[in-house]
Amino acid sequence: MSLLNINNLNIIYNTKGKRIKAVRDLSLNIESQDSIGIVGESGSGKSTLAMAILRLLPREISEITGGIIFDGTDLLRIDEEELRQIKWKEIAYVFQKSMNSLSPVHKIGLQMSDIYKVHESNAADKEIKERIFELFNLVNLSKGVYNLYPHELSGGMMQRVSIALSLLHYPRLLILDEATTALDVVTQGQILEEIIKLEEKLKLTRIMITHDVSVVSLTCKKVAVMYAGYLLESGYVTDVLSSPKHPYTRELLNSYPSLTGDRNSLKGIPGSLPDLSAVHQGCIFADRCKESMDICFISEPKSIEFSNDWKVACHLVGGVYGD
Ligand code: ATP
Ligand code: SF4
Repeated sequence: MSLLNINNLNIIYNTKGKRIKAVRDLSLNIESQDSIGIVGESGSGKSTLAMAILRLLPREISEITGGIIFDGTDLLRIDEEELRQIKWKEIAYVFQKSMNSLSPVHKIGLQMSDIYKVHESNAADKEIKERIFELFNLVNLSKGVYNLYPHELSGGMMQRVSIALSLLHYPRLLILDEATTALDVVTQGQILEEIIKLEEKLKLTRIMITHDVSVVSLTCKKVAVMYAGYLLESGYVTDVLSSPKHPYTRELLNSYPSLTGDRNSLKGIPGSLPDLSAVHQGCIFADRCKESMDICFISEPKSIEFSNDWKVACHLVGGVYGD
């Protein structure tokens, strides 16, 4: 069953006299209980896409067209009150510095209770405390954390608290935006393992934004590869990351070590992302692609669907050329 359907989404930032096309004509369907990793280099539009789901983008400068349908409701077209009912209750978002939004002068437990009451104003204190302890247990935190201040927590504990917070209302969709990236490899591995267990228990659907393909290969069922705002390849991890059809996915895979590998051995892909405010012709990756052909500089490849929900936008596999 489809839980989130993103249709022809375009997002432009109007800033400093430029129009930065951060997401371009992107369509993606996410099924209930999917775990999907959105990968791509820095600046490819991953966070912009994820933040658009909960309308977290700066409204004054962002121009959004298309649809983001969550369980039949277009999130881009509901009013603030309707959105408030969905935010955190149905869809929760954890980012790298989620804990920064907590007050440094109040204890964790008190702040979590207050946040819980925003949606459940009649809940009794005892019931809330039990709920928080249950969540601490789920993310492997001791009850003692309830009485600690944010500055008393390690990085790993902070991210566990952020994840516990995001689960306060048992959301159906959890968006993790580089939520474990800053942690050491061991802590990251532990937290990801816990999240996978939680998904089975709570029947969660997860979107995971990361620049690290190895994390996706270890923790997600599906993957979507973004580059300069475009979705270039998507499908099951077992297909896409085992035998990628798109040259960019191949480059991305070559440039990252395994989860346990040496982070210093990151190779990076030669060249850099194009100017997102410039007009371009043909394939957006053509300037950096080792396999480019003449047609790639003239015509934009359309997304072609293969079996098993595998989609690829590249002239090498399409044989069908854009307008
Ligand atoms: P990273 O991994 O570095 O977070 P990303 O793939 O998540 O990168 P985004 O952060 O979504 O990419 O950025 C996509 C493009 O939009 C980039 O060119 C970025 O500079 C631009 N951008 C992002 N946020 C804003 C903003 N608030 N104002 C203007 N431009 C922005
Ligand atoms: Fe490379 Fe051409 Fe495919 Fe683009 S369309 S990725 S330039 S082969």
